[in-house]
Amino acid sequence: MGLLQEKLAKYDLPQKFMAQGVYPYFREIEGKQGTEVEMGGQHVLMFGSNAYTGLTGDERVIEAGIKAMRKYGSGCAGSRFLNGTLDLHVQLEKELAAFVGKDEALCFSTGFTVNSGVISCLTDRNDYIICDDRDHASIVDGRRLSFSQQLKYKHNDMADLEKQLQKCNPDSVKLIIVDGVFSMEGDLANLPEIVRLKHKYNATIMVDEAHGLGVFGKQGRGVCDHFGLTHEVDLIMGTFSKSLASIGGFIAADSSIINWLRHNARTYIFSASNTPAATASALEALHIIQNEPERLNALWEATNYALKRFREAGFEIGATESPIIPLYVRDTEKTFMVTKLAFDEGVFINPVIPPACAPQDTLVRVALMATHTKEQIDSAVEKLVKAFKALDLL
Ligand code: PMP
Repeated sequence: MGLLQEKLAKYDLPQKFMAQGVYPYFREIEGKQGTEVEMGGQHVLMFGSNAYTGLTGDERVIEAGIKAMRKYGSGCAGSRFLNGTLDLHVQLEKELAAFVGKDEALCFSTGFTVNSGVISCLTDRNDYIICDDRDHASIVDGRRLSFSQQLKYKHNDMADLEKQLQKCNPDSVKLIIVDGVFSMEGDLANLPEIVRLKHKYNATIMVDEAHGLGVFGKQGRGVCDHFGLTHEVDLIMGTFSKSLASIGGFIAADSSIINWLRHNARTYIFSASNTPAATASALEALHIIQNEPERLNALWEATNYALKRFREAGFEIGATESPIIPLYVRDTEKTFMVTKLAFDEGVFINPVIPPACAPQDTLVRVALMATHTKEQIDSAVEKLVKAFKALDLL
């Protein structure tokens, strides 16, 4: 064995959980991802999807992708910068910008590359990037790739954010970046207070709407719209991999910022553009979201019902205000065990362990879709109660 292999073997934690038979990752789904899926001959209730609007299996979204592939081909074979821009990309950008209330938008191949490419190229070594300590990994990587001074504040702790702002040179750019909805625990950023501090310290704000889009605000325009603060937020990021039922991501902002990003974001310039099928499917999902308000109502009905049922059953669910419901376990091994027990009972949920959360906050994450029925939610709650009780967690 080489030195590298020896070193990696020392840290092979997955092997330990495989040996225990509770390794929960890379489970294969054999078909479309709706509220119920087939996995290894088993029929499973899906409570681990981020497709909040429930559109990944929608015939119109699928058909739009097929049609685009027929017209434009299977890929763009180049970067947006050079030969990879389709009229379809530009149309989606225009509609996304209008939807979230900004001048312009740019589409990237994934949400991850939006954050890593945008955050790393906006500020220089004299500036500051300030993040919530629970921000998504893609924000963390964008921050690490930048040459700016990097500051973090305790999760949603506005006094700590102010303390960080006080450390900054008043003449430097201070870019505050937050998840609008925190992806593992489902709570919201305290945007009103962040905006107040923006004005006090002359800062700039970027909000990641990955889990807010299609869920919060009028027609699902996001958390910034929910708070009525779109005009106060300088950059809005979103992804197509959740409510827009596809793959890709975007950044929206005023024209001066977008023009800078168009010529400087490395993940935009040095990576191939989004496929025609993915772009067209996202565009169709965006139209459906705007034309079918009943979908948003159904999502909130399912969410409120599930929140009530999980609370009544005695689960610790933290401060969630969204379709993301964390069931705290607070032990890594038991988090895997409860995931396995739930799966054996026919419920797919996601285990969340560090670095996706703090070590003392491990949890299983339940996510609702507009298409979940009360019967499916009742069944999931019942099976999760059984799994948690089997491990003395309830
Ligand atoms: N931001 C947040 C908050 C996310 O949860 C995710 C995906 N889990 C991303 C960004 C990255 O998005 P994508 O899946 O499109 O790469």
